[in-house]
Amino acid sequence: MQRLLVTGGAGFIGSHLVDALVDAGHEIIVLDDLSVGKRHNFAHHLGNARFQFVEGSVLDARLVGELIAQVDAIYHLAAVVGVKYIVDNPVRGMRVNIRGTENVLEAAQRTGAKVLVASSSEVYGKSTQVPFREEDNALLGATSVPRWSYALSKMLDEHLAFAYTRQTGLPTVAVRYFNAYGPRLDPKGYGSVIARFMTQALCGQPLSVYGDGLQTRSFTCVEDTVRGTIAAMMSDRGVGQAFNIGYPMEVTIVALADLVRDAVGTGVDVTYIPYERAFGTDFEEARRRCPDVSRARALLGFEASVSLSDGLPATVQWFKEHRDELNSA
Ligand code: UDP
Repeated sequence: MQRLLVTGGAGFIGSHLVDALVDAGHEIIVLDDLSVGKRHNFAHHLGNARFQFVEGSVLDARLVGELIAQVDAIYHLAAVVGVKYIVDNPVRGMRVNIRGTENVLEAAQRTGAKVLVASSSEVYGKSTQVPFREEDNALLGATSVPRWSYALSKMLDEHLAFAYTRQTGLPTVAVRYFNAYGPRLDPKGYGSVIARFMTQALCGQPLSVYGDGLQTRSFTCVEDTVRGTIAAMMSDRGVGQAFNIGYPMEVTIVALADLVRDAVGTGVDVTYIPYERAFGTDFEEARRRCPDVSRARALLGFEASVSLSDGLPATVQWFKEHRDELNSA
């Protein structure tokens, strides 16, 4: 049994991670400011003596230090995410994602507790050299395009973590998530395409495909995302490295729209929305995204196993059960 801190543990991926860690018998402290995370994502653990929730921000260095002094390792997932949110709030995005990670690493260095930093496939930027290997070059756009500030903040998080490992010996590891989906995906918060399509399909509205819909993503069932995250933390072989955590199947957004319509069982239309209308004129897209998973397979013994068609039904079920909340999304 370990004592673990999960920052962002009330969020979508974080709460699933907490479920798995509690099930594995660990003692968990969750730190979350509930800006996007939800109480009902962890309500089922309240009353469990091995679970504690602390409402607060990773920007509160004193609080972060106090909590880290009590644990063996830290899963650092607290971050500002979501392309639309970042485009609209780039200052807050960078402040939380960079300063928050610095606070975690600085405090961990005082105790030697291992830190896992949640990064993103966004760090590959607009590279189209798929599948992406962790050592590949990234291709970020100009600083006049706010989208890339998110990629850069996550890259800087990885750099910071690995710098602590090299300079101080603090064990760190980074995981690059590829478009996770599953129950609890929040249509209002992170606003991912799957949450939006599910909401639209269940409310009888057309699915909003941005651009020509031929851009691709590799959608990863959150169960796999969590297994890969724990594998990266548990292994000593990954220290000081980043790992792609994703299901290596590239899907176009129009194909996703069809899969969602089939999974929901609806005949709603698709409507094409120009990027300029969705994000403004200074927007650039990541055209393709697919992970090379050989490093995680070789070093962590981890491979995602849930295909999109196998993973969607549980997500649809969850969205159906929460239909009332969707109407206001
Ligand atoms: N997307 C879309 N319609 C939406 C929301 C997103 O077509 O209502 C597209 C978006 O342009 C991108 C893909 O779906 O190409 C994934 O978007 P998301 O925001 O989920 O994640 P990210 O861009 O960070 O991969």
